[in-house]
Amino acid sequence: MKKNTPVKKNDELVATISDLTYQGMGVAKVEGYPLFVAGALPGEEVKLHVLKADKNYGFAKALEYLTTSPDRVSAGKKELVQTGITPLQHWAYPAQLKYKRKLVVDLLQKAHLSDLEVADTVGMEEPYHYRNKAQVPAREWHGKLTTGFFRRGSHNFIPLEDYYIQDPRIDEVIIAVRDILRKYKVPAYKEEKHSGVIRNVMVRRGHYTGEVMVVLVTKTKKLMGAAEISADIQKACPDVISVMQNINTEKTNVILGKTSKVLRGRNYIQDQLNGLTFDISAQSFYQVNPVQTEKLYARAVELAGLTGEETVIDAYCGIGTISLSLAQAAKQVYGVEIVPAAIEDAKQNARLNHLENLTFEVASAEDAMKKWAAAGIKPDVIVVDPPRKGLAAEFIEAAATAAPQKIVYVSCNPATLVRDIERFGEQGYSVKQPLEPFDQFPQTTHVETIAVLERD
Ligand code: SAH
Repeated sequence: MKKNTPVKKNDELVATISDLTYQGMGVAKVEGYPLFVAGALPGEEVKLHVLKADKNYGFAKALEYLTTSPDRVSAGKKELVQTGITPLQHWAYPAQLKYKRKLVVDLLQKAHLSDLEVADTVGMEEPYHYRNKAQVPAREWHGKLTTGFFRRGSHNFIPLEDYYIQDPRIDEVIIAVRDILRKYKVPAYKEEKHSGVIRNVMVRRGHYTGEVMVVLVTKTKKLMGAAEISADIQKACPDVISVMQNINTEKTNVILGKTSKVLRGRNYIQDQLNGLTFDISAQSFYQVNPVQTEKLYARAVELAGLTGEETVIDAYCGIGTISLSLAQAAKQVYGVEIVPAAIEDAKQNARLNHLENLTFEVASAEDAMKKWAAAGIKPDVIVVDPPRKGLAAEFIEAAATAAPQKIVYVSCNPATLVRDIERFGEQGYSVKQPLEPFDQFPQTTHVETIAVLERD
């Protein structure tokens, strides 16, 4: 039988927003029952219309704001909030930074780790136009190939030209590419029929070098007119030094397929971080906010506390950005990463920067950690920077067996960070200094955090 909920569909009521979800939706609690309200901010008293009331939670629409938050700012373009590109755009930046710290504090509290301290979030001076990479879908819109984004949680396409958080030059290049694809009448991908050609346009730009890479992600192996299209792109945008085609024939939401080929120019671009130079290829991970990344890496290296004598492991090393930063201050650095192209880049990057004290391996971090532990490699410090799902339990065990003094954990998901801090606790490692949140993704609900675990 259906449990009674304190509100029903189509009810109208007044409630105060007490919190914000990870998706940036306001939360109103009615007798403890959460109602999620798009666009509403903490502290606001809102007249609500209940859209849906499930057993444990419901959704409501804001009909009228009886009070508005002093931190509410003009939302700019509503499309950007609708697409989920900038779910916090209507919230003043200092409030966003406080909220990100609170996300971490609340998760620690839930895990009974409330004695751990959390520093203030390190923010940006100009919290927009920061992204050095865009991956936008191309769809047919009023009979023409158009670039834009999807409405949040849906496949409804919304055309866009200004993405607000991307490097403005990237927005310009996307428009130029779109117009060239239109000129050559290249069909956009049609999801329902799994037909058409252009699925996505990806653009990456070096923050310091200004070098631009354009990747045309196609559903088909063949791209008719590829030579003319790529020549036109370079003519229209001389800073594009690499035009690539990536082929993704699958029915999937994953953007890039396995095969990439050069249509024109190089197959990588270069950029710099804290004075080091990096080659970046289409398929490699590279942090999207260069200004904040320099602060994040500098702090991670500082927290590693190196004197030049240490052996350091950099797990989940990508193209070696953190590894090279560590190598400048350590005796020897071992990096591991699962994507072979990223390790190719990492090796090249070590050469490019004349650093010889690095060894890179293609493997899963858990396998490499076990292998290194078995080979008797004794790291003084282990740095980890895993994807959202955090560390494998096996990795934590192997890392503890290797018995480093310190583990510097760079996390893009505080939920898995807290889980992993608990797991490290079982292995005799604990956090002794404040966790440090960094805002790598202003205007969104994401937060990056550095934690240092030390042997008890
Ligand atoms: N430290 C790098 C990359 C961090 S992103 C930087 O800051 O640029 C996380 C990286 O982990 C990605 O490059 C991803 O390919 C890699 N990865 C994901 N799962 C992995 C696993 N099980 N073992 C090793 N690397 C993995």
